[in-house]
Amino acid sequence: MERVLVSACLLGVNCRYSGRPGGDERVTEEAVKRGWIPVCPEILGGLPTPRIPNECLRGRVIGSDGSDNTAAFERGAGETLRLAELYGVGYALLKERSPSCGRGEIYDGTFTHTRVPGSGVTARLLKANGIRVFGESELDQLIEILEGADEG
Ligand code: SF4
Repeated sequence: MERVLVSACLLGVNCRYSGRPGGDERVTEEAVKRGWIPVCPEILGGLPTPRIPNECLRGRVIGSDGSDNTAAFERGAGETLRLAELYGVGYALLKERSPSCGRGEIYDGTFTHTRVPGSGVTARLLKANGIRVFGESELDQLIEILEGADEG
């Protein structure tokens, strides 16, 4: 069976910056059934919950108070990759639009809910290391691939 990483917040773990848990019922059901491995890169990077919101801007990760938190985000991405390699993970289902976990689209660094093409720090690092990254809206697509892989 393929090993898959999943954003812990999608399982209802209280690790979001807001301190308000908000899981996804279908993702949780599939993750538990299939033994997916939950991770929160920002917690692995040493950040607390709750924490100030952060967005990616010109290659850095900046807090809404202007602080540069790039180092913590990079540390979390590195620890997440370490776990992915340890477990031989080939796929990840990550929370969309997060400055860590978002893939393909993130916020633009102005804290105005403006979306731009791009990926979060962890999603980028996993992709660069050959791990296929999906967002929660792509759950069905991922399951289809996994079931095809299991049959093949
Ligand atoms: Fe969720 Fe990822 Fe943010 Fe952690 S870093 S709260 S797993 S989106």
